[in-house]
Amino acid sequence: MSTSVIKHLDVFPLRLPMIRSFAFASGSAGRAGDTAPHVLVRVTDDAGHVGWGEGRPVPGWSYETLESATTTLRGYLAPAVLGCEIHDRVGLHQRMHAALGRGPSTGQPIAKAALDMAVHDLAAQATGLPLRAYLGGAGLVRPMPLSYTVTAHETDGAADEVAAARGAGFAHFNFKVAMGGPDAALAGAIRRAAGAGAFIWADANQGYTLPQARRAAAALADAGVDVLEQPLPADRMNLMRQLRLGTALPLAVDEASVSPADFFGYAAEGLVDYLVLKVTRSGGLGPSLQQIMIAEAAGLKFLVSGLTDGLLTKLATLHLAAVFGYAGPAALNGSQFTDESALFPGKAQLERGGAVLLPSVPGVGVAPETAALDRFLCDV
Ligand SMILES: [Mg+2]
Repeated sequence: MSTSVIKHLDVFPLRLPMIRSFAFASGSAGRAGDTAPHVLVRVTDDAGHVGWGEGRPVPGWSYETLESATTTLRGYLAPAVLGCEIHDRVGLHQRMHAALGRGPSTGQPIAKAALDMAVHDLAAQATGLPLRAYLGGAGLVRPMPLSYTVTAHETDGAADEVAAARGAGFAHFNFKVAMGGPDAALAGAIRRAAGAGAFIWADANQGYTLPQARRAAAALADAGVDVLEQPLPADRMNLMRQLRLGTALPLAVDEASVSPADFFGYAAEGLVDYLVLKVTRSGGLGPSLQQIMIAEAAGLKFLVSGLTDGLLTKLATLHLAAVFGYAGPAALNGSQFTDESALFPGKAQLERGGAVLLPSVPGVGVAPETAALDRFLCDV
């Protein structure tokens, strides 16, 4: 058997228009009128197959930037993976980790995720399978419901936003807490506006102290919140242990769960109720698949989330989630915040009415319009 190998990589640092401001406890993903950094990767093999991947560095969320992701990919990861067999995804990560090692967790996960995604797209296309089937799942899927991210930080505005989103087809809602506002009142307003059947998801982005988290968890539970994500600083597992002891509200970690070993630590100690599946945070589809396996072995469910990423990440993540029969909600909210219509002019056929219908063509299922890339390209 002869297997194709990775022959060439192109890295495209882009800044896409932001159409809505998005702030959270640790910072911001950008403001309306600004631009959002995205790094696209195109991988080509020696048989001429092409795959695309995406990273969305958000410096207010983690330490990677447009510049660091671009130079990491061009200077370190690309040379390391040239010649790697396209289906050897274990070897791919071994090569990337050899080029850029880990500290307390995976090094430069967002840059690695962009490359991992591109290789998965390429390899699935080379086999003629949609990514979800290449990853071991069924070919047929139903539309995946999205979770709408509420951006208003006061009750009346949040209720209005939920009502408008419900009118557009959304049934589930996530929102940010630990930003100095009335979190419990906000949660109550969102629950009332969303209805009893909605999944309501609060994310503190590391913003509480332990006493604040204890009070907030009780109040959010009373207000009808279903899960509290990353209430405490990501490098303070000891605080999660203490919070867990006296809190009935289901908990999840996001920023603290980069590598499979990170999540294993939380699962093994019984500190969380969910894995937050976030492909770009975790170094790509390969490590994310390992995290899901750990969650399954631990008897835990997962929730799908993102970093205001674009269509490539949205579809790649949903292919992976679909392998395990995930039925939503998916907090893949890039369309609320970023205008990528020039890159993906057919996007509205895949995402509408608060849901995503995964394509059934080989690979991830979409590729950016290369003629439009120049409009957003940056010097790095
Ligand atoms: Mg989060």
